[in-house]
Amino acid sequence: MKITMLGTSAAVPDPERADSAIHISIGDKSYLFDCGHGATRQMIKAGIDPTDVNHIFLSHLHYDHISEFPYFLLTTWICDRGLPPVVIGPSGTQSFVDHLFEDGAFAKDIEARAQYPRRQNVEILRPEVRECQPGLIFEDELVSVKACFVEHIPKEISECFGLRLDTKDGKSISFSGDTAPCDAFVELSKGVDVMIHECTFPEEAIEFRKKVKVGTWAHTSPIELGKLASEARAKCLIATHFGSFDSLNPVVQKTMGVHMPQEIMGPHQLDLVEKDIKKSYSGELHLAYDLMEIEL
Ligand SMILES: [Zn+2]
Ligand SMILES: [Zn+2]
Repeated sequence: MKITMLGTSAAVPDPERADSAIHISIGDKSYLFDCGHGATRQMIKAGIDPTDVNHIFLSHLHYDHISEFPYFLLTTWICDRGLPPVVIGPSGTQSFVDHLFEDGAFAKDIEARAQYPRRQNVEILRPEVRECQPGLIFEDELVSVKACFVEHIPKEISECFGLRLDTKDGKSISFSGDTAPCDAFVELSKGVDVMIHECTFPEEAIEFRKKVKVGTWAHTSPIELGKLASEARAKCLIATHFGSFDSLNPVVQKTMGVHMPQEIMGPHQLDLVEKDIKKSYSGELHLAYDLMEIEL
């Protein structure tokens, strides 16, 4: 099994990081966790054929986790995808998909392209959507995938899921999506080979955000992440979904200035994040970067 971190950013545009997306290949099968901006291009950079991706799991409906989906499906349609994909996500996923294609935002593009004999297969643009609930959400001959609620967007607005994939030959990965520290996700991740967990802001930025009352606090700090990965006895931890705190780009720094003072931003913050996670977690630790690969 190979995990490729296609996108490792949070919601602010970052020239060094695409938005949330993780590719998992097992044998000749391809699975995608999240489909954030840039995922298709990142797959091609990594030598992954996006027309082979037939199962997409969406952790939640924030745009930094789903905005690539129309581009991904339209692009793989014109690259001769063979099947409509299966999309598994929270309630609201069907409505999201219904507003994109033949009756939605890209209706005219599709009508125009469908004039060509080779593009009359518009059924490719009708994904099978499965809106899921906690528990077993998917199974095929190679893997099973379970989900639990995590703590990010208030449930009455939109449900958010953490995911765990187990292969039939005994390997396991969990992915937190976006969340504050969450007991259900720790439980779901017990003994997992690789835990992929969000770590949106370093401790200093969290303190600053509390003072200026900006945005949601429903994320996990590095110190909290170390504790929960240790509690879950994750053998390996990949911290991801970084809120551009390591960027030196002046536009990114200006944008992120509402979340943390610009003068404390930069790559050294990653060293502080690593140090803070390691206060409680002694397993194998990786701070994600785009196109990072982990073989399992
Ligand atoms: Zn996010
Ligand atoms: Zn989110």
